[in-house]
Amino acid sequence: MATKFELSDLIRTEHFIDGKWVASIGGKRFDVTNPATGEVIATIADGGEADARAATDAAARAFPAWRDALPKDRAAVLHRWHALMLENADVLGRLISLEQGKPFAEGRGEVLYGASYVAWFADEATRIYGDLIPQQQRGKRMSAVKEPVGVVAAITPWNFPLAMIARKIAPALAVGCTVVGKPAEDTPLTALALVMLAHEAGVPPGVLNLIASSRESAVPAVADWLHDGRVRKITFTGSTPVGKYLARESAETLKKLSLELGGNAPFIVFDDADLDAAVEGLLVSKFRNGGQTCVCPNRVYVQSSVYEKFGDMLAKRVATLKVAPATDSAAQIGPMINARAVDKIARHVDDAVSKGARTLTGGKRLTALGPNYYAPTVLADATSEMQLSCEETFGPVVPLFRFEDEAEAIHAANDTPFGLASYFYSQDVRRIDRVSRQLEAGIVGINEGAISSEAAPFGGVKESGYGREGSKYGLDDYLSIKYLCQGGLD
Ligand code: NAD
Repeated sequence: MATKFELSDLIRTEHFIDGKWVASIGGKRFDVTNPATGEVIATIADGGEADARAATDAAARAFPAWRDALPKDRAAVLHRWHALMLENADVLGRLISLEQGKPFAEGRGEVLYGASYVAWFADEATRIYGDLIPQQQRGKRMSAVKEPVGVVAAITPWNFPLAMIARKIAPALAVGCTVVGKPAEDTPLTALALVMLAHEAGVPPGVLNLIASSRESAVPAVADWLHDGRVRKITFTGSTPVGKYLARESAETLKKLSLELGGNAPFIVFDDADLDAAVEGLLVSKFRNGGQTCVCPNRVYVQSSVYEKFGDMLAKRVATLKVAPATDSAAQIGPMINARAVDKIARHVDDAVSKGARTLTGGKRLTALGPNYYAPTVLADATSEMQLSCEETFGPVVPLFRFEDEAEAIHAANDTPFGLASYFYSQDVRRIDRVSRQLEAGIVGINEGAISSEAAPFGGVKESGYGREGSKYGLDDYLSIKYLCQGGLD
């Protein structure tokens, strides 16, 4: 059996339901395009309500046997899936670049990152313990055991087409849940390829089902899962408005929810920081995926005594970043995902400049490369009146805000409904302790810009959502606790 695949083998154009590749029940199809060129990569099945229902039927049928499989057998399947991901890392990386636009090195890096969650949860599958509760009454034994919640619906965004869905499927399968999933309409091909590899790895029919949908069809498809009482959990990564809609609509059947939503991350540079390290950390955290990540710093606060110096140092580095299609091996930033994304970036920059921001570098579209490119940009003199201070820009734009003292920086950093990632640079140990306690965020990077790891709990507070992915905590969202009380024992 071939385990190393060609790109053409991995491009799947139908839904995967009950172990089979199937067309949409209504026969609809939609185009997936390359954001670098606008060319159609594939025309694929467009799933609606009936397809979502068929996926749930299969997942519900498969659930009892998968739940009852030995944890070590579920772990073995996940380990095989992990091995296949690694074996096919180059071709999966190319597929990510093709449909999402990120440079190949980042696409391949995403495969390794996503695969690390599969390996992590494969190991965790065998370590799901319960408790024997110390005896309270003679003749009674009380214990707590953990059980899979049931069928899980996973809905994911386009910015990490492989990692976002892998880190939902892996814990779900590890604990014994079955899955119905729907990737984003811009980037369904990577998820379909991943599911093909899962099938090759021995995931039984019905245990993992994936439908692809256009934006239009996604609404009725997901609504079917929201209203179906057999779907016991929704795990979603995406924007806050859609997360709120899912929470409202799933209330009727009281599903468990994990919501990894939007961020508006602050990045604070204190005057006692190592400025070279802060520039490096900012480049790593801000320009990954062209600034299209939920943990990208969106607001950079710099203490006034180092403000001009830091701005100069940063702008010099940002001006050297190479913007090019993923096919160029020197590319550091690719195209944005679509025209809507570039329009939003341009709107934010124009608004900031009209309100007094100074452009240190960038600040324009790169139309010679194509319609979806935007220059890496640094703006000085940003203020809280500008749109980019309260909305995620989701692009390669760094606005620099000035602050005088620690209290002002903390207040500004927390002055947002969001609370996913936050970052700060300081060499003062007491300040590090104070600031880490006061930042309202699920994640704090301290003198560090690269924070993600399969071993760490990833997730937000406030309107960035709830639930955690990765780490030992990442299993909890897929489990419920059953209390057993056995009497008549003496
Ligand atoms: P989005 O909310 O528009 O879409 C996410 C998913 O939801 C897609 O699969 C989409 O088809 C689906 N969807 C959209 N509207 C729907 C509806 N009415 N009914 C059912 N399904 C619907 O988000 P996006 O633009 O694809 O992704 C970017 C957002 O995701 C940003 O806000 C970013 O911060 C966030 N994000 C968060 C994390 C995290 O871990 N917290 C990670 C990555 C991205």
